[in-house]
Amino acid sequence: MCIRIRFAVPGSVPIFDPATQTIALPLGLDRARAYVAARAVLAELAVPQGPFGAVCYCGEQLDLTPRIPYQRTKVMAHGA
Ligand SMILES: [Zn+2]
Repeated sequence: MCIRIRFAVPGSVPIFDPATQTIALPLGLDRARAYVAARAVLAELAVPQGPFGAVCYCGEQLDLTPRIPYQRTKVMAHGA
């Protein structure tokens, strides 16, 4: 399964979910910063990164274009 990118409210989901191979980037990040953040996470996962973009472990470029979610995720209310 390829690594996927999703945009989420910071702190609402793990940065990387091994079950779904999903990297979560903060909502509202611009494209350039999204690549920097994704590359940092991928480097932590020991996925070698090329000079440009963000690369899956299979060598494919990841699409980091922010998308408006089709369905809103319920944000769990935190106590206090
Ligand atoms: Zn892949």
